[in-house]
Amino acid sequence: MNSVIVSCSSCGQKNKIPADKQHLQPKCGKCGSLISLAGKAVPVEIEDSNFQNFINGAGMPVMVDFFSPTCGPCQMMSPIVNSLAQRFVNRGIVAKIDTSENQRIFSQFNIRGVPSFLFFKNGKLVDQVVGGVPENVLAQKLSSLL
Ligand SMILES: [Zn+2]
Repeated sequence: MNSVIVSCSSCGQKNKIPADKQHLQPKCGKCGSLISLAGKAVPVEIEDSNFQNFINGAGMPVMVDFFSPTCGPCQMMSPIVNSLAQRFVNRGIVAKIDTSENQRIFSQFNIRGVPSFLFFKNGKLVDQVVGGVPENVLAQKLSSLL
């Protein structure tokens, strides 16, 4: 699991927060203050092995970026996906899955190509977008699920 390192705004302590715990209002390990992830949140990197548990246990809407590291349009979407993770912190979850290493979930959802963006609510697939699109297209879809 990837993680993000955030300095506590109260005591300055650097806290390492697993990406899949970002939405759980993490507290500083030293002083107990709430850690603000505004501007710091990163997409959660999920895999075949934890995909279903993650989606089922998310507790809020999830957008998953199905990408391949060698695909140009995927690389162009990467900063947009990062931006969405920050914009929706504490409201929705932004995740990504590398389809070059995780074929099972890719096949399960009959995804036609990468990048594809799948939207889940209450553990169910409710919407999807195929291909590179402007940030606001994805933001509006995720917003509509909040
Ligand atoms: Zn602190």
